[in-house]
Amino acid sequence: MGEQLKIACGVFGAINYENQPIFSNIYWGMRAQNHRGHQSHGFLTYDNRKFYVHRSLDLIPKIKTSAVQEWFGRLPGQVGIANVRYTTSGKCDEKSLIKGTQPVTASKNGFKLAVSFNGNVVNTFQLKREISKDFPNFSYECDSDLICHKLLIELMKSNDFASAVETCMHGIEGAFSVAGITKDGKFFAFKDPNGIRPLCAGRSSDYSTYAFSSETVGLDVNGFERDFEIEPGELVTVSKDGFQREKLVNINRKAFCSFEFAYFARPDSRFDDRYVYEVREEFGRNLVRENSDIVKDADIIISLPETGDDAALGAHEASGLRWERASRRHRYVTERAFILLNKERYSTIDRKINILASKVNGKRIIVTEDSVVRGDTTKVVIEKLRRMGAKKVYLFVTFPRIIGPCFYGIDMATYGQLIGSKHSVEQIAKIIGADAVCYQPIENFAKATGFRQDQLCLACVTGKYPTPLAQRIADEMKKKFLEGHEEKGRLYETAEAVEQSVAK
Ligand code: SF4
Repeated sequence: MGEQLKIACGVFGAINYENQPIFSNIYWGMRAQNHRGHQSHGFLTYDNRKFYVHRSLDLIPKIKTSAVQEWFGRLPGQVGIANVRYTTSGKCDEKSLIKGTQPVTASKNGFKLAVSFNGNVVNTFQLKREISKDFPNFSYECDSDLICHKLLIELMKSNDFASAVETCMHGIEGAFSVAGITKDGKFFAFKDPNGIRPLCAGRSSDYSTYAFSSETVGLDVNGFERDFEIEPGELVTVSKDGFQREKLVNINRKAFCSFEFAYFARPDSRFDDRYVYEVREEFGRNLVRENSDIVKDADIIISLPETGDDAALGAHEASGLRWERASRRHRYVTERAFILLNKERYSTIDRKINILASKVNGKRIIVTEDSVVRGDTTKVVIEKLRRMGAKKVYLFVTFPRIIGPCFYGIDMATYGQLIGSKHSVEQIAKIIGADAVCYQPIENFAKATGFRQDQLCLACVTGKYPTPLAQRIADEMKKKFLEGHEEKGRLYETAEAVEQSVAK
C-alpha cells in the first residue's frame, strides 16, 4: 500500500527534428508519471529564441479540446522538458511550493539553461555557499535550483558542457537524474555517479523525436521505443543523428533505488527490460515460499490496492489460496495517501479504500503490502479488517524492514518516523495489530529484481549508504536519535554541522 512515503519528482523531455511542436509529447509523457509527484507540475519549451514556461500546483490538468490551441500557443518550440514534483526538500507552504516548482532556469553572462530534475541533493549547505559567490542573493526552494546554478557556474568557467557536467557529478553528492536544455538548443540528460534514480532514453520509430523519461511508461504513451537506461555518471546529448553517450564518471558501483521496484514505479514500467509488475509477482511468490507455516494457516489473500496487487497474484499462484478482491480502490481519488500531509492521511485512506466485510468475516487473511514505513495507516487497515470480523491477519511485506532514512529522494527523512528503526518485527506486529508481519529478506528481494545487491541502493534497509556524507549524517543522527534527541526535520536539511565537519 506504500502508505506513507513521498518521492521527489518525475522527469520527461523530448526534441523533434521535423519542426513539429513538442508540447503534446511532453504533456502526455509527464502525465503518465504523475504518480511520481502531485504537489506541482511544470512544462518548459524552447524555440531557439526563448524559454516558455508553465508552472502550477497540483496534478497535471486535463486539457479541454477548446483550450488545446491556447496551450500549444503558450508553449511553442520543438524541444521541451517537464516535471512533476513532491517536496523532499524545502518548505511545504503554498508560496514555497510555487517557488520550488520545476523546470527551473538560471542565466548569467550570456549563458542560460533550464533543467528538470529527480532526486535529492545531500551536500546542500556546501553548494549553497559555493553558488552564493556568483549569485549573492541566491535562495532556493528545490534542489533543482542548486543543480541548475552549479551547472551554469561550471559552464561559465569552462565553456565546455561535458566538463561542466563532470565537475557537477564530482561536486554534488546525492541522487540526480536530470534532463535539460541550454540556450544554444543543446538537449541533454545525465545521472549521478551512483545512478540512484531512473532515467531512460527512447525515440519515435521514424527517428524524428528523441526523449528522456524517468520511467518507460512516459515513452510508451508517446508510442516511442526505449533505447537504453542512462548509466550512472553518464551524459547523453541529442542531435539529428541520435543519442551521443559519454561516461564522465565511473565509480564501478551502481546504486539503483530498490524502492522503485517495491513501490514507486508504475507496474507497467520496465527497468533493465523487466516489467516492474513481474518483479512484484516474484516478491509475492518469494513470501509464500519463505512462510509456508503461515500459508497453511490462512484462508485467503487480499491486497491493499494497488501496489500490493501484483504481489498478491504471485502469492496466489505459489500458494493456491484464493486472491479475494475484498479491498477496492476508489478510481478517482488519485492521491497517494503517503504523499499527503499527516493531518490528511487517515480520512483519505478511508475515502479511497473500501473493504468488503462479507468477504473477510471469519477469515484468516494474508494481506500483501509493499512496505511498512510509519505503520500508522497499516494499523488503520488492520483495525478495519478486525472490525469486519477477520479472524487472523498476517502481513506479507515485499520491501524489507526499513531501518534508516532516505537521502536520495524518497521522503522518509528521519529515524523517528520509521517504525522499523527502533522496533523488532515482533514489536511491529504488536503495534499495528497483525498476528504476524513477514518481511521479504534482502537477498530474496534483490534476486527477484534481477539486479545484484551491489547494483542496488538498499541504504534504508541496511544502513549502508552509497555516498559518504549521507553515511556520516545517518550515523551521527542515529546515535543522537537513540540517545533520545529530538529530530528537528529532514536530516539532510538540519545537518549543516555534520556537512561542515566532512568538508574540512
Ligand atoms: S535509501 Fe531506500 S528509498 Fe532511498 S534511494 Fe536508497 S533504496 Fe531508495
